[in-house]
Amino acid sequence: MTINVALDGPSGAGKSTIARAAARKLGYVYVDTGAMYRSVALFMLDNGIDPEDKEVVTALLPKVKIDLAYENGEQRVILNGEDVSERIRTSAVSMAASKTSSYPEVREFLLGLQKDIAKSNDIIMDGRDIGTVILPDAQIKIFLTASAEKRAERRHKELVEKGESISFEEVLEDIKKRDEQDMNRETAPLKQAEDAILVDTSELTLEESIDAVYNTVVNKTLKQEKTEPSEKKPSSRDRELMPVRPISKKHKLGFFHVFFYNLLRYIVLGLYHLFYNISYEGTENVPKDGGNIFASNHRSYQDPVFIALHTRVPISYMAKEELFKQNVFFTALIKAFGAFPVVRGSGDTTVIDTSVEKLEKGRNLVIFPEGTRSKDGKVGKGKTGVALVAAVAQTKVIPVGINFEGRLKFRKRVVVRYGKPIEPVKMGITGTSPRDLKKIKNEIMENIIGLVR
Ligand code: C5P
Repeated sequence: MTINVALDGPSGAGKSTIARAAARKLGYVYVDTGAMYRSVALFMLDNGIDPEDKEVVTALLPKVKIDLAYENGEQRVILNGEDVSERIRTSAVSMAASKTSSYPEVREFLLGLQKDIAKSNDIIMDGRDIGTVILPDAQIKIFLTASAEKRAERRHKELVEKGESISFEEVLEDIKKRDEQDMNRETAPLKQAEDAILVDTSELTLEESIDAVYNTVVNKTLKQEKTEPSEKKPSSRDRELMPVRPISKKHKLGFFHVFFYNLLRYIVLGLYHLFYNISYEGTENVPKDGGNIFASNHRSYQDPVFIALHTRVPISYMAKEELFKQNVFFTALIKAFGAFPVVRGSGDTTVIDTSVEKLEKGRNLVIFPEGTRSKDGKVGKGKTGVALVAAVAQTKVIPVGINFEGRLKFRKRVVVRYGKPIEPVKMGITGTSPRDLKKIKNEIMENIIGLVR
């Protein structure tokens, strides 16, 4: 949610200087709505239109295009492609703006632009009707004022510095006239919103005025954080979900890589048939391509090999980090067979990222959802990691059941069963919400249990 600070007040109260400085200190965007009204007035003056002529002014509005740009944090106003930020600061434009801004059509014309900026930024917006009309829900409303004399004194100094020859009396007269126009107009008159905090700068220096606004915003936002703790701490439902990024199924592994893998696979397959009394069921369920997950019960360190012997594409599998710390030879061997380390219980999303990367590369991924080997052959509880990888990658999961009795020994009877692929998309799952993940996980675990007998 963005923080909106509405800062209203009469002309010459120092709103723009104070708001600009406070916004910079807070890291907010400063939006000067007066500049928008001034631009409309400048357009009319440039085209020789009398600001009093409401009919013509409103008829010409479609020809006015105002854009705001930010340069080093400073707002620039662009009128029909021209940067008019300096040209709008004359007393002639001030008077014209005060008139044209009283027309409801002009106000309506600028309303959308002002609301849009507030929606997507933390802002301090200064004007006359920000707290009452434009942003009635702003978290912080400040009404900044000063006596007419003080305001005239400041404005006069500013104009003289800019080279305008104007007397103090004239400036005071202008200010009083603009106050009168702004406060008594029918549409969106200048008035303090009921819930606005009044800051009178008559006796304050510029620094003190900036601090007054800055402190008001800081105190109010801190108080809001305290009274609305739920705002700060998102519930588990609001916590950010891992984005889905379906893998592409294009063939990405090199021809020789796959060729040598298969050569090795047939050799090992032959050796395993000699060593174990091994048989396979459901091999028709094994996809010919890569990028699939094989989710299996976990009985021995041989499991990845048992599963891989009927996949035509090299596998990757997660292995406990400890296995990588045993000895150099063993580490090299398991790495060659596609093992990558996971730190147990770390809840690390990089494991998910690495898994998806392996699938994206065209490898098959072996996951043991139970996380640990089962000594008695019973299938334990599954973790949702496998479902998360499947949901993020939007890929098939082939359930696998590895069956043997007791300990794995020479000529032991081993049966490896592949089940029908489970596809998140076919289950209507296209996201990673906890509910979706539980659904996938349950489906996988039920299938694995069905293959273990
Ligand atoms: O604030 P500034 O003096 O630049 O505004 C110029 C004129 O634009 C004001 O006199 C006022 O009439 C008009 N204005 C307005 N509503 C706003 C901002 C400015 O009517 N939100």
